[in-house]
Amino acid sequence: MVETFGFTHLSAGDLLRKAISSNSENGAMILNTIKEGKIVPSEVTVKLILKAIESSENDRFLFDGFPRSEENRMAYERVVGIEPDFVLFFDCPEEEMVKRVLNRNQGRVDDNIDTVKERLKVFTALNLPVIEYYSEKGKLYKIDATGTEDEIFERVRPAFAAWRYVF
Ligand code: AMP
Repeated sequence: MVETFGFTHLSAGDLLRKAISSNSENGAMILNTIKEGKIVPSEVTVKLILKAIESSENDRFLFDGFPRSEENRMAYERVVGIEPDFVLFFDCPEEEMVKRVLNRNQGRVDDNIDTVKERLKVFTALNLPVIEYYSEKGKLYKIDATGTEDEIFERVRPAFAAWRYVF
């Protein structure tokens, strides 16, 4: 998506992991929250996103793993205030998600079965209202995320085309 449509990828998880490794003031709290599979306070995540936007020369951003909750979404609207053009919801059976996460070997502290179960619980509890919010606004594209990366990318293309993001 980044290569084809010229977006800058902003992963909330990556920004939080970077904050841990740069020993920022919230580093220890962020590390513990991630280890437990819980949600980092919105204020912290939104600040990191805002900083990343401000230090980029691009004006197209692909947020990944954000907003994860209504609280996330409202904090973002309050602080950043720019509505997304559209939202991609990658829909994948739990069993397949767990298999992918446990096989990706990226050395993440939260890629173990206990934390993954907690992350899925948190996702189920908090994510639905966000999905519904964007769905009601006609901004949600639900993507079948089973199959290969290439197959999934082909399913994503129409969303970008609809917004005339073509290179
Ligand atoms: P991810 O890299 O998207 O799988 O996220 C890994 C972990 O980072 C999550 O389990 C949370 O602990 C934290 N995290 C990522 N995104 C957010 C977010 N939007 N709000 C709060 N915590 C987040």
